Amino acid sequence: MAGFRSLARQVRDPRSDLALRRYSLRKCLERFAPYGHRATWHHLCARHRIEPEDRAPDPVRLVRALEELEEARAVWLGYEAGFAERRRREKHEGLRRPGAFDDWHRRTWGGNGVARCDDPVVHPSAPLGEVLGRLIAALESEPGTTCPVCARAGIVWRQDLDHEPWSGPVCTDCGIVVPQPVLTPGALARARRIRTRDLTSAA
Ligand SMILES: [Zn+2]
Repeated sequence: MAGFRSLARQVRDPRSDLALRRYSLRKCLERFAPYGHRATWHHLCARHRIEPEDRAPDPVRLVRALEELEEARAVWLGYEAGFAERRRREKHEGLRRPGAFDDWHRRTWGGNGVARCDDPVVHPSAPLGEVLGRLIAALESEPGTTCPVCARAGIVWRQDLDHEPWSGPVCTDCGIVVPQPVLTPGALARARRIRTRDLTSAA
């Protein structure tokens, strides 16, 4: 299985045909896709004006999309390396963290679905690296009551997510599944009270 870097080389390869270069970029998303595969692809296409179904997109746009993805990946892997190191030290010192924190990291290790967007067309619009920077800042500080990406308070509990953890708090503004470790118990409880079902019946 080709790794992210060799796939990135294929995206850049001017001798390769455009369909293959586009395909390689999509394969990169199987290695690293902060919003999940489909939503991250939708995001990159929207930001770099690539027609999602175009089999021969402008190579300049393809490479710009790749660059955005690479920058975000560097941001995220840097955070993970620091996290792994910190965790080793904490364990050595006998410090424990809430299980939910480690569970979340285990599930998203490598950067897949760290800010998963269940609906592939509803996701933050800022560059991926910037969004991940905000998420990292939230993970490294005390839990809060708002979305770590868009800072809005509209968070609802969804029971019918397409991916693990299958249910969880979702931001109604930017669309991310909010990592539970960044929310206070109070904010989680509030989200649980507002389930999608209630929203539907209220509509
Ligand atoms: Zn949000």
